[in-house]
Amino acid sequence: MELYVHIPFCVRKCDYCDFLSFPGFGCGADEKHRSLSCSYINALCGELDGVFCGMKETGLKCDTCFIGGGTPSVLELKNTEKLLKTISEGISPIEFTIECNPGTLTEEKLKLYKKYGVNRLSIGLQSADNGILKALGRIHTFEQFLESYRFARSTGIENINIDLISAVPGQTFDNWKETLKAVTDLEPEHISAYSLILEEGTPLYKRYEENPGSLLLPDEDTEREIYHYTGKYLEEKGYHRYEVSNYAKKGFHCRHNTGYWTGEEYIGAGLGAASYLSYKNAVRLKNVSAGTGSENDMFRIKNTENIDDYIVRPSCETEEILNREAQMAEYCILGLRMTEGISVSGFKERYGTDITDRFGDILDKYRQMGLLEEKNDRICFTDKGMDLSNTVLCEFL
Ligand code: SF4
Repeated sequence: MELYVHIPFCVRKCDYCDFLSFPGFGCGADEKHRSLSCSYINALCGELDGVFCGMKETGLKCDTCFIGGGTPSVLELKNTEKLLKTISEGISPIEFTIECNPGTLTEEKLKLYKKYGVNRLSIGLQSADNGILKALGRIHTFEQFLESYRFARSTGIENINIDLISAVPGQTFDNWKETLKAVTDLEPEHISAYSLILEEGTPLYKRYEENPGSLLLPDEDTEREIYHYTGKYLEEKGYHRYEVSNYAKKGFHCRHNTGYWTGEEYIGAGLGAASYLSYKNAVRLKNVSAGTGSENDMFRIKNTENIDDYIVRPSCETEEILNREAQMAEYCILGLRMTEGISVSGFKERYGTDITDRFGDILDKYRQMGLLEEKNDRICFTDKGMDLSNTVLCEFL
């Protein structure tokens, strides 16, 4: 099982962001925001204590913990320590990641992370070009990122991910190449490279609606070119693409996210955090009433997104109950995002039926078109198939 912990605070809101996070936090925060942050951490630690208590009673363990956001590194030292202490008293994850952003990371915070067993950092850089960082509304420069990265290394963090975004306003192919070079020169263990998605309601989306040309977004061909170049360049530099947008040096794939893609159960704590649990564990850990759904169902449960309500009492509600059919489709859709694809025997073991009995038509159709292939018990996309993956995946629904 995996544990996700959400910190919904940022220094300011980036222009492309639609994550559940609020601005005004960090070292310049006023009293109101500081107090909100303390109340939130108290409520979050209360929720975590309850989760850990339920896990102890039933012998459940979490292999990974991911503190994400928002910007977890905006938390003050005392709140950081309270949260990390609570987590480390409840579980001993093999992989323990915290997300951070340049401009919010200090040596003191990094030392606390180390003290409480954090062994992986995920740093949001997005681009090595200061003009692009400004256009995205990021709070930091590339130089500030370098400083954070060096702090992290000197504190002894040996597993670092760097987040990048391509296809952003003003980006050219050459400029993306420079970002990739600057990042790989640092030799992080992991790189995530996503394409920008214009989310409704964000300032960037509004600017796009008003005048699409003004954003100077790369066209579709350049986007494709960037995607292919990224895979090839990173492969040459020793990074293996193991998922559509994720690259790692040998042995450094993200266990936490791999858990999501392989259909493992996870529990989310914090504002708006999602959980994916079996019937038994949904009843034990998220107080789902017994009798809702059936024993073979999986539950998608979401914590409240209202921070005032959360602070009073962290409540949640069931968003979706997945029956066996829905679970099988999701197993294929998520599993095919990974370059190694899905295990044929794993599917049979999990669902007691052959994947070909359930999805034989789709698999045959795309195998014949050269988009899917089967090798050594695994079904995965070919290079051509990866390019058209969205069309194929829709058929499993
Ligand atoms: S730092 Fe991350 S979570 Fe915070 S506003 Fe920017 S993109 Fe959103």
